[in-house]
Amino acid sequence: MGSFDYDLVVIGGGSGGVRAARFSAAAGARVAIVEERDWGGTCVNVGCIPKKLFGYAAHYSEEFRDARRFGWSSMEPRFDWPTLRDNKTAEITRLNGIYVNMLKDAGCSVLEGRARLAGPHEVDINGQRFRTANILVATGGWPYVPDIPGRDHAITSNECFFLDELPRSIVIVGGGYIAAEFAGIFHGLGVEVTQLYRGELFLRGFDDDIRRHLAGEMRTKGIDLRFSSDVAAITRTNGGFSVSLTDGVSLDTGLVMYATGRRPLTSGLGLEEAGVAVNNNGTIPVDDHFRTNVPSVFAIGDVLGRLELTPVATTEGMAVAATLFGDGPKSVDYTNIPSAVFSQPELATVGLTESEARRQYADGVDIYMARFRPLRHTISLNEEKTLMKLVVASATDRVVGVHMVGEDAAEILQGLAVALKAGATKADFDATVGIHPTSAEEFVTMRQKAA
Ligand code: NDP
Repeated sequence: MGSFDYDLVVIGGGSGGVRAARFSAAAGARVAIVEERDWGGTCVNVGCIPKKLFGYAAHYSEEFRDARRFGWSSMEPRFDWPTLRDNKTAEITRLNGIYVNMLKDAGCSVLEGRARLAGPHEVDINGQRFRTANILVATGGWPYVPDIPGRDHAITSNECFFLDELPRSIVIVGGGYIAAEFAGIFHGLGVEVTQLYRGELFLRGFDDDIRRHLAGEMRTKGIDLRFSSDVAAITRTNGGFSVSLTDGVSLDTGLVMYATGRRPLTSGLGLEEAGVAVNNNGTIPVDDHFRTNVPSVFAIGDVLGRLELTPVATTEGMAVAATLFGDGPKSVDYTNIPSAVFSQPELATVGLTESEARRQYADGVDIYMARFRPLRHTISLNEEKTLMKLVVASATDRVVGVHMVGEDAAEILQGLAVALKAGATKADFDATVGIHPTSAEEFVTMRQKAA
């Protein structure tokens, strides 16, 4: 290793890259990490963290209303967007600093600028060449907007965190995580929201009952959720934008946001020149240990096009650190990875959907379901309903899927993900004593099969 400046150069200071750099340095490696934008990547700057903060803000509008029947009265609440936006930005700036300090404390060289592979063991950073034993590509992704007339009028999740002012209305295009989350956020902040999805039911890949239930809840709250609806063109008008749909309908709106997926940020990195294979869609193929076809170059996170989730990227980052500088090759188990859509109400899930389980288990599956009004809303009279669902493999009694729409769904499902990972059976769920009164206790008191 003597002729190398570093044992590892990490390109990309997002969740995955930072974790890999810190764990590699902690194992004694000489590590440099380079970032061209903001430390912490998508999650910290234009993703999970600011989105969750905005979600809290959006929730207050309902909570002020719910509080009245609990005896609280106050002046009519008024929302000030710049206060939220700027407090959020201050918190993110604080986190950016924490990331840099964590890296420096771990002993990493922290570099800012544009990096480019100049060979299997060489990285060019701001025109300076470094020789390194290994390179890790963790450059993440970028919002994708389809090529429709007027696409430049649309914002994406990158811009919505920094708007000068809130629009009176917004059209959100897409039916995935980001579209569902921002429909709830903007609606809660008082914006009139229309969400358009091209297919018959949004959140493709999630359990059908859960998708239908969330759609109903979002509509009850007042979101104009339209399926089988696609955009033909966007034009600017006096007061905002006109969105023409392929079925001839036209919508006037203050803002258009596209949330139609993300693409890996892998072009212009010198990958091809260094001999690293790249798929047609820009993702990087790797083996079980995140090694590309070039043995000294590794890749993790959103550039793989697998599960675009922060905890997945950090797990992959730790696997690379262990493989290179720990006690041998490590891979990642992608089964039973829980995830949540921070819609309003929240959706969370782990394991198989009912239809996946029916395909996978020839001996059949048992379904348990509970749909109820949470205790809090018996007084608030908020119409929000919770749905919980268990999918059980009949032959083994193993719980193979847990799904929920409702308050604190993500917090509840994190614990149940441990149960699934540990192979819990329905009998184990039944033998667990509930915590009363909670919504979560429903998961251990479902006795009646729904199917
Ligand atoms: P998703 O992949 O979740 O959803 C993309 C949506 O856009 C789908 O509904 C898709 O439809 C639709 N779409 C794709 N192309 C077009 C098109 N040309 N015209 C119209 N609609 C289109 O992507 P997001 O952008 O919402 O989020 C990106 C990723 O980030 C997520 O997949 C997730 O992994 C991650 N994320 C995770 C969060 C969390 O953990 N809470 C929060 C936010 C993001 P169809 O289904 O028909 O293909």
